[in-house]
Amino acid sequence: MTSGALSGVSSPSLLARRLAVLGQHAPLFYQEPLHLVRGQGVWLWDDQGNRYLDVYNNVPQVGHCHPRVVEAMTQQASTLNLHTRYLHENVVRYAERLTAKFDASLSSAMFVCSGSEANELALRMARHHTNKQGIIVTDFAYHGNTEAVAELGNAFMPEAATTRRVKPVPMPDTYRGPEGIAEADWEDHYVAAVQRAIDELEAAGVGCAGILMCPAFANEGLLSAPGDYLSRAVGLVRAAGGLFIADEVQGGFGRTGANWWSHENAGVIPDIVTLGKPMGNGYPLAGVITTAALVEEFGAWGMYFNTFAGNPVASAVGMAVLDILEEEELLNNACSTGAHIAAGLRELQSRHEVIGDVRDQGLFFAVEMVQDRDSKTPATEACGRLVESMRRRGVLISRIGRHDHVLKMRPPLPFDPGHGDLLLAALDESLAECRA
Ligand code: PMP
Repeated sequence: MTSGALSGVSSPSLLARRLAVLGQHAPLFYQEPLHLVRGQGVWLWDDQGNRYLDVYNNVPQVGHCHPRVVEAMTQQASTLNLHTRYLHENVVRYAERLTAKFDASLSSAMFVCSGSEANELALRMARHHTNKQGIIVTDFAYHGNTEAVAELGNAFMPEAATTRRVKPVPMPDTYRGPEGIAEADWEDHYVAAVQRAIDELEAAGVGCAGILMCPAFANEGLLSAPGDYLSRAVGLVRAAGGLFIADEVQGGFGRTGANWWSHENAGVIPDIVTLGKPMGNGYPLAGVITTAALVEEFGAWGMYFNTFAGNPVASAVGMAVLDILEEEELLNNACSTGAHIAAGLRELQSRHEVIGDVRDQGLFFAVEMVQDRDSKTPATEACGRLVESMRRRGVLISRIGRHDHVLKMRPPLPFDPGHGDLLLAALDESLAECRA
């Protein structure tokens, strides 16, 4: 890589400085890390002036550096920015507008600064409300990085290995299915595992405070759960006195196209919803949406204050994001462009043996790569090569899954069918290059 013409900083020396000051474990994408200096809409530019189609980043939901978000941010930042212990119109108006997007029972908001903080607060609320400790999650979960939330994260977090108050259940996977069980019985099988987890938590003396799941099963590999899995699982947890916490950090704000929130796709109303990532289009803004009764009960027990959360700038940005999602009709776009890309991915599947399964929810896609379609052995290495190959073709994607063999694609929502065609053409070439 030559010297950074646009940033004035050479990438090799920036990498060395980064390693020296951030350490070698701070995650960095790509064998040769990408040095990005500018973004606009669905496009990113590196320090050499090369342009990349962004099919990975779900935080800039309404597009990189959207002028209305920038305008709302700078206008409010140059007027007043302060915590929420004084009256200000923005946080009230934003909370009103945001809660109006949910079922009428979910009428109260609490603001935080990250998805992890949102889940941490949700856990505290559920545990206080139920006076129990146990939480049920899937067995390939990631919900954030605070100490209590790390206990949920059996996909990556060491705390999950030793906790006694979290019980994982098999992720509901209709591509692979549970070993030795007939397909017609998969739903019952996965639901029965939830009842077993409840019983085990009760037997261990911690009880069942709730079930915390991403209704889109995003980190699990964007799974399609069988039938009524989620609502039946939630029903069992509620019968045991627990709450349903829906983690909408990835699936929310129209990502899945059909609805604002992925729990609506599953036809189940949560007790608590956690929000993050796209909420501020890059400004650190996250939240918990729940019932007025739970907010009242929790607040009466322990004062909750979060210095930066819901401040006038954060709330102005949050409202700009809502305006853009509504006025640019980005949910409709997620449906129509999403369907166009999903059809293209299935056409690629018909020609490339390495694609075992294609899953799509709006502008969120998972392509599961396998060494052969009968054994479904994960094609982990081919998947890694493919992500690198796509970068060489100017398209940014990533991968996920227990074996890092599922392509993960979730572009900013202004992605149009023309962008989709660029993605599909690059994938076609890269798939030909990266056979299992
Ligand atoms: N929940 C889910 C489903 C996530 O994917 C993530 C982050 N990848 C989080 C929560 C945590 O969010 P944050 O990084 O903002 O703390």
